[in-house]
Amino acid sequence: MKIIVLKFGGTSVGTLSKITKVAKVIASYAKKKYKVIVVSSAMSGVTNQLLLKTKKISQNFPNEEKDVILSTGEQISCALIAGKLNLLGYKSRSWLGWQLPIITRGKYSSSRIIKIQKTKIIKYLKSGGIPIVTGFQGINSDFRITTLERGGSDTSAILCAKFFNAKKCIIYTDVEGVYTTDPNLTKSAKKINKISYEEMLEMASLGAKVMQPASIQEARLNRIEIDVKSTFSKKSGTTITKKRNITGKNIIRGISFTKNDAKLTLLGVKDKPGIAASIFKPLYENSINVDMVVQNISAGSKETDLTFTIKLEDLYKTRKLLENNKSINFRKLIVNKNVSKVSIVGVGMITTPGVSYRMFRALAKKKINIEVISTSEIKISVLINKKNLKKSVEILHQEFKLSSSL
Ligand code: ADP
Ligand code: ASP
Ligand code: MG
Repeated sequence: MKIIVLKFGGTSVGTLSKITKVAKVIASYAKKKYKVIVVSSAMSGVTNQLLLKTKKISQNFPNEEKDVILSTGEQISCALIAGKLNLLGYKSRSWLGWQLPIITRGKYSSSRIIKIQKTKIIKYLKSGGIPIVTGFQGINSDFRITTLERGGSDTSAILCAKFFNAKKCIIYTDVEGVYTTDPNLTKSAKKINKISYEEMLEMASLGAKVMQPASIQEARLNRIEIDVKSTFSKKSGTTITKKRNITGKNIIRGISFTKNDAKLTLLGVKDKPGIAASIFKPLYENSINVDMVVQNISAGSKETDLTFTIKLEDLYKTRKLLENNKSINFRKLIVNKNVSKVSIVGVGMITTPGVSYRMFRALAKKKINIEVISTSEIKISVLINKKNLKKSVEILHQEFKLSSSL
């Protein structure tokens, strides 16, 4: 069977007229004799609205019930797509995660798909049907509905491609592919034709919303090639590929950024072994991810200042945990919500010296202050004031000549 998986994001199914467009794209593959499996996300904004409802009821809304609510958005969009395809003369129906089933493991709201039962969908495909499968959701061993991390329909699609042994997995979205940076922020952003899993994973983890990071991890583990393209244009998109050495003259492949970080500084922490572990232990136990960390040893004194970043949504909880932590002492806690992290990504920097210098120099020339720095083999991140975000991305885009051909 020539199976193809098509995934439509919230931005592609956001209105009824967009759903009509989606149905036509699906029909075009059916006409080419593909057996099409569709995975859809909820209409854009719906999952956020549902989340808000749970928060309005209680900040401690039960995790199990939260997933039941959050998963409903996909139920609506999938039924609408199936309904539209029926109208166009195709046999189609929605399939909810539990109906296949899509089996997950792990915590609610961040479950992982471990298996997708094929039998019912294969039978349906053989009967000429087009299944519209809900992304983002599954069922666990307690027969309870679960959801993946936010943006998780990308993962649902990639794992459908794996379990159904699809010839292709196409992620349809509202931009024409993966760009050198967010095309909605910077006009000079350029579409990338081919990108490796490694670079895509780094760009996604550092904020490029176009693909969910966990989905790229699954694609890399299972060697699934992905095409990313627009629902609303016929132009070719980006291939995320297993090939590692994609030639190109640029050292840097792209620039990612975040807008939802908070920076915390603990002033006057006792400088003794184990103190950082005591600070971060309760955060870890509460699933709060600490990102950039710097510690400044105050010369001559027995005190130190510790700065780190977290997601803004974790700020309230983090503050409480720090203030109630009996095993640490500090003089003052300073919180800054007006920060953004800007990262340059590219395997080229492994073999090219001076990339960080060029990055810092370019920002310094425009008087942009760097608050924290972190690096890995293929990325350099800096924390800056949020008001300088657009300017910084544009300066770096120019510095590393990302508008010229890739
Ligand atoms: P979907 O609804 O299809 O899942 P998302 O909103 O999750 O779409 O992702 C698409 C958005 O990702 C684009 O509208 C764009 O603003 C944003 N984006 C951020 N970084 C990039 C990038 N490097 N390339 C393309 N899009 C990006
Ligand atoms: N609807 C879910 C979300 O908003 C999943 C997705 O969009 O992929 O996170
Ligand atoms: Mg998305």
